[in-house]
Amino acid sequence: MKLFGQKQVWFVTGSQELYGPNVLQQVAKDSAEIVSGFQQSDLIGIDVVYKPTVKSAKEIHAVCQAANTDNNCVGIIMWMHTFSPSKMWIAGLNELHKPFMHLHTQFNAALPWSEIDMDYMNTHQSAHGCREFGFIGTRMRKERKVVVGYWAAANVQVEVDDWCRAAVGWNESQNLRVVRFGDNMRDVAVTEGNKVSAQIQFGYQVHAYGLGDLTSVVNGISDSEVNSQIDCYANDYQIAESLFKDEYQLKMLQNEARLELGMSKFMQDGEFGAFTNCFENLTGLTGLPGLATQRLMANGYGYGGEGDWKTSAMVRIMKVMSKGRSGGTSFMEDYTYNFGSTDQVLGAHMLEVCPSIAAEKPVLEVHRHTIGVKCDTARLLFTGKAGPAINVSSIDLGNRFRIIVNEVDTVTPPEELPNLPVASALWQPRPNLAVAAGAWIHAGGAHHTAYSQSITIAMISDYAEMAGVELTVIDADTNIRQFKNELRQNAAFYALSQGL
Ligand code: MN
Repeated sequence: MKLFGQKQVWFVTGSQELYGPNVLQQVAKDSAEIVSGFQQSDLIGIDVVYKPTVKSAKEIHAVCQAANTDNNCVGIIMWMHTFSPSKMWIAGLNELHKPFMHLHTQFNAALPWSEIDMDYMNTHQSAHGCREFGFIGTRMRKERKVVVGYWAAANVQVEVDDWCRAAVGWNESQNLRVVRFGDNMRDVAVTEGNKVSAQIQFGYQVHAYGLGDLTSVVNGISDSEVNSQIDCYANDYQIAESLFKDEYQLKMLQNEARLELGMSKFMQDGEFGAFTNCFENLTGLTGLPGLATQRLMANGYGYGGEGDWKTSAMVRIMKVMSKGRSGGTSFMEDYTYNFGSTDQVLGAHMLEVCPSIAAEKPVLEVHRHTIGVKCDTARLLFTGKAGPAINVSSIDLGNRFRIIVNEVDTVTPPEELPNLPVASALWQPRPNLAVAAGAWIHAGGAHHTAYSQSITIAMISDYAEMAGVELTVIDADTNIRQFKNELRQNAAFYALSQGL
């Protein structure tokens, strides 16, 4: 059993009748062996399903239509074993609504030097057949992934897996429901956006509920449910014995357990996969959820603070894409700088950083929350695990969306942060803070991001192409002058590609 349940990617091999039934038998056998190799590989996280070789326009059209209507099919891997004249692909590709990858591989790795003859050449003709297939994709202006190399090689399988995960993320994007508890933080621009445009572009729905609706569910959670939830906390985190003996602190912990269970029930009942809240809209609740939100994120829910539904959806989609990979994904905010020999960013939020990114077992403590609402709140404290990470921001430019990514290196803080009452991560942006923050600001990237140590640039890039959205990457090679030109050129491209 693979990681994504019923979700699957189809493997479709293109050929034709010209070389006779023996070649087609060989093609079918080789294709089945590749699929079986992918199924057995630990590097590929999704079910890859073998489909019979397509040899005519009619068969190609039929498999594309079947993929469109199959809810479990998140995309198709297409491979040309032999030559497959690509006018045959026009009708099918015209109708295909699912993402597709063109796997440019060959069944045999090495040439059989002493035996090779024209039969072998015609049967193992991907070098030729895939170029014909490539032309029609380009001629039809189709966005698709192209992966090149020997199918059994680990690097090729990792590329295949990255794309399959992006396709799973795209599928999640089509089905995701985001719940907003309250509205956006007053006066803030970047957390706003057009929810109709977002649904047209990404598929996900964003629904607002009044705090009264949530409060009544939270208040309906029983004391016994709250108490058994607190037993879970004792297992998952480091908690001082004194907290349980202090009646007031225990009460604060019970508040969080009730909030967690209430929000969880609300989202399960409404089939929501992500949520937002805002410290300005808390009427009826005990305070801004801290531990509760942290735990919901750790359980796979997307979250965005201050009503930030775009970041919440992105966190959820990235959590789905990264299933089974090491490293966590969290809502994050660029909070404060450490200027020094290497400039660094301390990322954190008021309360809500996901413990999936923690370097070690989080500590659960009760501290005063002082932004907006003032109250004591239970929260998890930890620092982010060292290693490479990415920050992803999705913004609404008014007429279209842009996704901005910065590669960063998270480091262990040089000193303890004994007075910081929230979880944090310290990172060094690539290529350096000056270029990265400059480029980020020119691109209009938000202070909120989806931070991840399990998602690759390739996955985000594939996802952006599936969505038809601009992606700009800030990495070790970024140069401000070139980056500004890239933004200008992209503006022209996306204006033209949208049509009038
Ligand atoms: Mn914020």
